[in-house]
Amino acid sequence: MKVAVLGGGVIGVTAAYYLARDGHEVEVVERQRGPALETSFANAGEISPGYAAPWAGPGIPVKAIKWMLMKHSPLVIWPLLDPAMWRWGLAMLANCTEAAYARNKGRMVPLAEYSRDCLRELRAETGIAYDERTQGTLQLFRTQKQLDGIGKDVEVLQQYGVPFEVLDRDGFCRVEPALRHTQHKFVGALRLPGDETGDCHLFTARLAEMAAALGVRFRYGTTIRRVRYGAGQVEGVDTDQGPVAADRYVMALGSHSTPALRGSGIRLPVYPVKGYSITVPITDPDGAPESTIMDETHKVAVTRLGDRIRVGGTAELAGYDLTLREARRHTLEHVVTDLFPRGGDVARAEFWCGLRPMTPDGTPIVGATHQANLLLATGHGTLGWTMAAGTGRVLADLVSGREPAVPVEGLAIGRYARG
Ligand SMILES: Cc1cc2nc3c(=O)[nH]c(=O)nc-3n(C[C@H](O)[C@H](O)[C@H](O)COP(=O)(O)OP(=O)(O)OC[C@H]3O[C@@H](n4cnc5c(N)ncnc54)[C@H](O)[C@@H]3O)c2cc1C
Repeated sequence: MKVAVLGGGVIGVTAAYYLARDGHEVEVVERQRGPALETSFANAGEISPGYAAPWAGPGIPVKAIKWMLMKHSPLVIWPLLDPAMWRWGLAMLANCTEAAYARNKGRMVPLAEYSRDCLRELRAETGIAYDERTQGTLQLFRTQKQLDGIGKDVEVLQQYGVPFEVLDRDGFCRVEPALRHTQHKFVGALRLPGDETGDCHLFTARLAEMAAALGVRFRYGTTIRRVRYGAGQVEGVDTDQGPVAADRYVMALGSHSTPALRGSGIRLPVYPVKGYSITVPITDPDGAPESTIMDETHKVAVTRLGDRIRVGGTAELAGYDLTLREARRHTLEHVVTDLFPRGGDVARAEFWCGLRPMTPDGTPIVGATHQANLLLATGHGTLGWTMAAGTGRVLADLVSGREPAVPVEGLAIGRYARG
């Protein structure tokens, strides 16, 4: 089958790789000069099935107000006159119930865990290297109240059989020795030893090379202007480099999938949620993190990627705007120097932002649509790197007519039609 994958981020490239491995003729259409140069470029680097959960949950509306009032706020909402943003916000609020949280998490966890397993398999099969580490992640608490409040999270981890450890100061310094200099700022930590880390851009670039070796054609520097929707199916794609035609189309345009679906009869509830990162060169490896540390107070993740520290966070609702705001940089610098004052040189850090393709229920949208030859692979929000390999594999299964290894009913766009 000829398959056109629209978008060459981590989701599009993993899908292309698995589709090619199944023997399909695959073409990837990507506007940038290489793979993973937009949202998949400099994310926080966590492969975290242990934290696979929707943002929308009980108590979030009250917490969101508190976050917005903080000095180093993890949440910023620009009062835009954008009906799509407010529709998305209301739909997210509707998902803040116990029942919706349990349903959404129940859809996310199997895909995230499957994805981590697919990634392990992929590493074993191909030897792909991407500054990866398999040392788990650590959530650090600054107050006793935060630590006392983890009961619910722990219950959920137990329910899904996710291994975890609750650690005191000695315990977290054993897994992250550089924290011994700043341990007094924290009361304890929750460790998820099954989580992994790695550079999403490096992974995607290397997998794209492997996919090309399997015959995938990458059309970089090619901007999709319009997807032509006919009577119940996609008729073709118009790009600035000419038309693209295929038997099947996989839409993996991240946040840009929403405008690309105009005219299809599919109303995609995906809205961009901007996040920022800095990448800091390590100056003293003994003062740097070993794996990922999540500072629960600021909702900032600090990850070791080879000889760099990636610091990522902030949720900003600002439409498709990609302005780099200095205030966000200060927050990220503050957290990394507060945790690892000797680790790296923040003055030489690279500052970046990207648009998380967020659904209101936190669950990605993966699977068939009522357009007979169109599949969606978008809406991965905060967890696109975590869920990429599994998503790619599920898509290849669906195109090849195999039953995917995880339940896909709750992942397809059809779940919104049923409300
Ligand atoms: C600050 C931050 C931290 C994050 N941390 C983590 C983390 O630790 N762990 C995790 O799992 N996830 C994390 N994420 C989320 C993760 O990065 C995303 O979910 C993931 O990158 C989405 O991948 P994608 O392929 O769907 O989208 P993208 O990477 O955006 O890919 C879409 C591609 O489509 C292309 N495109 C768009 N429009 C067109 C067009 N008209 N024509 C041609 N091409 C087009 C774009 O150029 C782009 O390459 C983070 C995100 C941010 C912003």
